[in-house]
Amino acid sequence: MTAITGDQSLLREINRMALVRVVQRHPGLSRADLAKQTGLTKSTVSLLVQDLIGEGWLLESDIQATGSAGRRPTPLFLDGTRLAMIGADVSVDTVSVLTVSLTGDVLTGVSEPLAGKSPEAVIGQLARLIGGLVGQSRQDGRQLLGIGVGVPGAVLDTTGVVKLAPNLAWRDVPFQADLRQELISHEVSGLPIQVQNDYDVAALAEYEFGEEIAPDPLICLGLGIGVGAGIVVRDRLFLGAQGFAGEVGHSILQVEGPLCSCGRRGCAETFIGLRAISTQISGQPGDLLPVATIRALLARNDEAALLAARRAGHYLGVLIQNLWTYFNPGRIVLGGPTCELGAPFLDAATSCIERYAADCGLSLPEIRLSRFGGHSIAVGGAALVKHALLRPFDPRFRNA
Ligand SMILES: [Zn+2]
Repeated sequence: MTAITGDQSLLREINRMALVRVVQRHPGLSRADLAKQTGLTKSTVSLLVQDLIGEGWLLESDIQATGSAGRRPTPLFLDGTRLAMIGADVSVDTVSVLTVSLTGDVLTGVSEPLAGKSPEAVIGQLARLIGGLVGQSRQDGRQLLGIGVGVPGAVLDTTGVVKLAPNLAWRDVPFQADLRQELISHEVSGLPIQVQNDYDVAALAEYEFGEEIAPDPLICLGLGIGVGAGIVVRDRLFLGAQGFAGEVGHSILQVEGPLCSCGRRGCAETFIGLRAISTQISGQPGDLLPVATIRALLARNDEAALLAARRAGHYLGVLIQNLWTYFNPGRIVLGGPTCELGAPFLDAATSCIERYAADCGLSLPEIRLSRFGGHSIAVGGAALVKHALLRPFDPRFRNA
């Protein structure tokens, strides 16, 4: 097959990143194993691996002499010591930025309350915080691979435009282009920038930085003021035609139920969202209690708080039941601040879903809490950068 002129470097990058993906999935493989797994020749693998080691993607453990058997093949691993990504979490009230290693370790970070909610104010603040971390990385001798941002809205991933972010009142914001422009004044240029929905990137945090190969499909359910899901199916985020897939907080759990922020009635958010829980406790419509306050009430067995947390947990069980039937997921990961309510909330969800499973005689998918806690979206931003770089064949990521 003749390669088309100009595509040679893309072809090479596709082969290189295929090797990194295989090592990520199967740490400790040798060059010969990699040749078998990828179908590349041993000499090509050797050349590419040498470059990848030189650039900080891979490392080899010490060569061990094994007597008469000679040299044992050298095992290869992802190198967590030299490359890093910057991940950001733009939420409704704060902006957090982290530097994360290739293996998912949080190296450094900063968080501030949002100074304003206009796109200009948020992007300006975000660029300043990123500029600080880029400077820090330069001092530390870490090479940065890119910047990834999770935003609370639907994003078109081919253009980096935020289509709709209801809680920030944004529509059609050219986020990626504006951030790139703003970063120039902070002496940051030349780094790829990726933007995606907050719960979608949180799912990628589990997918790219998980301790083992993630089951397929993988669903990450984010629980906070809003409720949303990031869904990874067959190695890619499932985003839908306009980026709205996974907006499960607006699936209907009760016909003609309470009025939701989206204008519909009876959405999951009106039972599971933090405002719904707060309103149940205080009796004030639209109230929003800090999670710490609700936790303190639960700790002293406040009856209204216990009832509210259990009721929300029960509806979470209903929502998980629905996701289970729609996607037949291999694993569901729960993340977001509401998880911090702990047993009253989570146990109610578990007993609800276990009852559904018993009723139909099926065993539940694996359900676990996010490993990254409150950092899951910012770590997810970093995971998005890694996910995109490891898939150079995917045209969705080429505009970065
Ligand atoms: Zn709704």
